[in-house]
Amino acid sequence: MRLEGRRAIVTGSTSGIGLGIAEALAAAGAEVVLNSFTDSPGDHALADRLAAAHGVAVRYIRADMADGADCRRLVAGAGGCDILVNNAGIQHVAPIEDFPPERWDRVLAINLTSAFHTTAAALPGMRAKGWGRIVNIASAHGLTASPFKAAYVAAKHGLVGLTKTVALETAGQGITCNAICPGYVLTPLVEAQIPDQMAAHGMDRETVIREVMLARQPSRQFATVEEIGEVARFLCSEAARQITGTTISVDGGWTAL
Ligand code: NAD
Repeated sequence: MRLEGRRAIVTGSTSGIGLGIAEALAAAGAEVVLNSFTDSPGDHALADRLAAAHGVAVRYIRADMADGADCRRLVAGAGGCDILVNNAGIQHVAPIEDFPPERWDRVLAINLTSAFHTTAAALPGMRAKGWGRIVNIASAHGLTASPFKAAYVAAKHGLVGLTKTVALETAGQGITCNAICPGYVLTPLVEAQIPDQMAAHGMDRETVIREVMLARQPSRQFATVEEIGEVARFLCSEAARQITGTTISVDGGWTAL
């Protein structure tokens, strides 16, 4: 399960699941490239904190995952990568008739199209080494739908489809591509949905968490970013070399219903 000598890029990794995955990969000895679109002093301080905590090289590179050229520049700026985790994602919740077209475009760009660009940029280097791991952070919403999340559900289903296609194009080349499909994980992205869900359902915070958000998660428990990080780390291991083109749900039983 050690990853010394591997360079990992994790998109959207200054908070939430991406940061949890970056921590798990750094703890396994990988060099890590953190990314977001902000480029704040805090982003660089976070890279320094991870480097000190795990004794590995950690850099922060700004790139906007809504911009295809920026996605490709991220991979080039890192000097390529052995491990690519396509994690950056945003949400917008609205009935389809009221769904702002510009929000549709942005959700699709960040949650789906960015993975096309980063994967295209990373694959030549992985092929040259005969080793690579691509981990796409999809969602339970990559396998099933919910109302008011048209763009997110479409993007995550698309990301699962992209995962299968990349797996077929790289099969037998030492490269794997898989998707992790988390249910609800309590991160800033989920926190931001709570007011919208409260308004849509006319409920208070605790009721909307229990009765709406976790209603379809039979465990009635949020997954943690550390748990998602460990699944990503396993997918990057040698033991997982024949696991490709598939989805791994971490959803407390949601998609078993
Ligand atoms: P988060 O909001 O905590 O973190 C998102 C990260 O993406 C941040 O680092 C942010 O800076 C970055 N980001 C946002 N827009 C960006 C852009 N344009 N360019 C570069 N970086 C950008 O979110 P999270 O909950 O940790 O979600 C991470 C991924 O996991 C997303 O793809 C999300 O869809 C998926 N996911 C989350 C949950 C959950 O319950 N939290 C469940 C299933 C799937």
